[in-house]
Amino acid sequence: MSFHLPPPDTGALAARLLAWYDRHRRHLPWRMPPGVRSDPYLVWVSEVMLQQVRVETVARYYGPFVERWPTVGALAAAPLEEVLRAWSGLGRYARAHNLHASARLVVERHGGRVPEDEAALLALPGVGPYTAAAILAIGFGRGGSAVPVDGNIERVVARLFALGWDTGSPASRRRAELRRLAASLAPQARPGDHAQALMDLGATICIPNGRPRCGACPVADACAARAAGVAETLALGPKRAPKPKRFAAAFWVSRPRDGAVLMRRRPARGLLGGTLEPPSTEWRPGRAWRMAEAVSSGAAPVGAAWRRLRGRVRHALSDFEVEFAVMAAADPRRLPGAGEDGAVWVPREALEGEALSTMSRKLVRHALAAEGRGGQRGAAAAVPPGRSRSAAPPTSARNASSRLAPETPQTSPRSSNAARQPNSASAHSTLPATGTAPDGTAAAAPLSGRAMGMA
Ligand code: SF4
Repeated sequence: MSFHLPPPDTGALAARLLAWYDRHRRHLPWRMPPGVRSDPYLVWVSEVMLQQVRVETVARYYGPFVERWPTVGALAAAPLEEVLRAWSGLGRYARAHNLHASARLVVERHGGRVPEDEAALLALPGVGPYTAAAILAIGFGRGGSAVPVDGNIERVVARLFALGWDTGSPASRRRAELRRLAASLAPQARPGDHAQALMDLGATICIPNGRPRCGACPVADACAARAAGVAETLALGPKRAPKPKRFAAAFWVSRPRDGAVLMRRRPARGLLGGTLEPPSTEWRPGRAWRMAEAVSSGAAPVGAAWRRLRGRVRHALSDFEVEFAVMAAADPRRLPGAGEDGAVWVPREALEGEALSTMSRKLVRHALAAEGRGGQRGAAAAVPPGRSRSAAPPTSARNASSRLAPETPQTSPRSSNAARQPNSASAHSTLPATGTAPDGTAAAAPLSGRAMGMA
């Protein structure tokens, strides 16, 4: 739906927006003062980190990252493993792979200087039209067609021009129209600040979910949605379908002699590529794993007496949500050596600095919290040692399920992390056991010092 109102005076609108930005901008670690161009490499790093991650989370990662690798050349020279470690907890690890690979290409093809050319930027892995436009506008001060349009800017522009979501029109056409309208607003002077002003307006004033703060908006009198009385009701996109759910069981194995934790590394490419995680069963749709079934599936990494930890761990990935039950090994037998069957033993004190995804951190915190409580009262050690590798559930294991503690999912409010781009929000939550401290919901919350100590 659109309302055919006179187009705004774009020059006056841009001037007011820049004046507002000068006074009310967000102070973010990757930002330069108004009127000062940023280093294109730093813009690139920040924009890649910000994809679908909250600004507050990125603010914690950005400084240490660019301090360690202040130039493209430094990043290109770094081992991928170290980059992944520094990325640990930011999620979507393909971004770190691509950033690192792109840095090497920039060194090879462009002498280590970020190219000031859209086609050359788009040829780099992981650099799409938005990131290329942000680098050109904010890092090089380029105007014209280099207008970055993220979710915040889409929303602001849609409201300014009262361009509502039309179910009969392809999303790609609407997006192209929003880009065209955004470009029509961009001034020749300070195009980078203008883009960041629109981002900030969308993040702080023209906010989503039908709650724009029009009374505080610097461009309210040029806004078509407000003039038409639809600022709060204008449809901005299709209703999002809930993510499909998968279920898994993770296995927590702590080496008795030193407390090191058994992990596996995921394949370098693909989902959570290259990160470490506790071994787990298949992530299947449909139904949760019962303990005896999980242990006897062949996925348990060692023979042990297993017990199911109370509570479950949930994590939302881009395309689905996964819910884990966590099984802890008591008296593990025949522990694999490092590298054997993909085993990686991580000392407790090294867990914090390892390349663990946010999902793995949740699992680790969940298990450490259980250890800190001195075991899971009521969660019976139901499957005896020696059963974990059998292909089919032996009778004793099947019978063991009747001795398990109830596996009724706990319920608790979910904590949601609104992503920077509203169409791709990510959410993280953990369902704690009754009486258990929540395992933390911030995407990059550190593993607590207490929990990191030896149990
Ligand atoms: S007037 Fe309201 S709806 Fe329009 S741009 Fe400003 S905050 Fe958004």
